[in-house]
Amino acid sequence: MPSSARVVHDRPGRSRSGAARGRIRRACAVVAAIAVSALPLVFAPTNPGVPECPTGLACHFVPAAYAADGNYDTADRPHDGNDIRYIVIHDTEETYDRTLGLFANPRKGAAAHYVVRSSDGDVTQAVRTEDIAYHAGNYWYNTHSIGIEHEGVLVDGARWYTDAMYESSARLVRYLAARYHIPLDREHILGHEEVPSATPKGAGTAHYDPGPYWDWDRFFALLGEPLRGDRPSPASAAAPPVPVPSVLTLVPPFDANAQPLRQCVRARCTDLPAQGSNVVYLRTAPAADAPLIGDPAVHPDGSPGTTEVSDWSAKAVAGQSFVTAGRSGEWTAIWFGGRLAWFRDPGGRLGVPGGWLGPMLTPRPGRTSIPVYGAAYPEAAAYPGTIPATDLAPLPYRIPAGQVYLGVAENPGAYYFARFDGTDTPDNHSVVTGQRRFWAISFNHRRVFVDARDVQALPGGRFAPD
Ligand SMILES: [Zn+2]
Repeated sequence: MPSSARVVHDRPGRSRSGAARGRIRRACAVVAAIAVSALPLVFAPTNPGVPECPTGLACHFVPAAYAADGNYDTADRPHDGNDIRYIVIHDTEETYDRTLGLFANPRKGAAAHYVVRSSDGDVTQAVRTEDIAYHAGNYWYNTHSIGIEHEGVLVDGARWYTDAMYESSARLVRYLAARYHIPLDREHILGHEEVPSATPKGAGTAHYDPGPYWDWDRFFALLGEPLRGDRPSPASAAAPPVPVPSVLTLVPPFDANAQPLRQCVRARCTDLPAQGSNVVYLRTAPAADAPLIGDPAVHPDGSPGTTEVSDWSAKAVAGQSFVTAGRSGEWTAIWFGGRLAWFRDPGGRLGVPGGWLGPMLTPRPGRTSIPVYGAAYPEAAAYPGTIPATDLAPLPYRIPAGQVYLGVAENPGAYYFARFDGTDTPDNHSVVTGQRRFWAISFNHRRVFVDARDVQALPGGRFAPD
């Protein structure tokens, strides 16, 4: 959650829409029964005290407060139509106990489903997985994910992320992924930093946890799905470069990947101690002295990205996959955030063939550029009159014709309408599903959406696995 700012639950807009054309699904009877039988300001969870954890894991349930201001919404996932597609990894920037205390505050406006303790990997569940915790700062992602907080301070790096913590968290993620059929890959097991803002206004200030010192390489090895698969280790013989265009996965070796990083507090910047990281810096040209890639949301003045720890403009992250765009000497180019981005990769050790993750998508002929979105909400006409339509404004990026991005999944736009159980709100706890379809794509540091009508798969269709 909080890395520097408070988690914001992006509540929907208030504008009314026309007649309903979308499919409406209602939540479980249990929720409805609570709504009519009681009107306290704070509810107890439906099944307190019984944590959802794998057998043998030290795990407790300390409920987050459920209140009108909200730390979570009640739901009946996935049976109510809100499928759980992602697990989102966070760090707390707080102690374990203080984090649980914040979640118990009905005015906090944020909670995660689980918190993992640094010292011994102890796990506390705060929100049931059927419910929607406000952890990702993006309501669409909240609706479709489970959030796991890790006790730590991201600039302190490995000190907080202990063996016990990685092992407990990986056991929990394996259990949740099996239960909800979530693929164990980096397009579905995300860092909070990979979740976009749902709105253009928040695009430049979205959170950046768990940050550069979270060892995705190690985490995925513990999940039993190593990021490199059965491919050779970085120390072994050079491999031929990944063909262009095809899907490439970034696999920097964590311990040996000490990258320049600095922390700036009130314009005073200090270098962070050299240590292993998950960062791959991206440049505007195939040269070590070329500027880092900028980002229009982080640097609206057009200036380049920086090595500041909070500046995610030019940082790709271990395990992320992109489409190759070129090769020049020891440098490889990928399409990243609407730009051509270069990283040095002598011997093809850093970028390896991405395997089958999804189709390569490019703007349809006739489009000079297409918009991208931070959520996949239905068109306004899909909402019934009882449910305010949620605006979906494009993020401050465009994908120009000719660029290619990895498509992860295609789904119709959907929105879960939830209000406090203690209110008598028509159509409370229902899912609005639209006609408009979206592709989730790997875009820049974060994952975004494009309208399915705006893209087509590359001719020849699919990436052929090696
Ligand atoms: Zn977070």
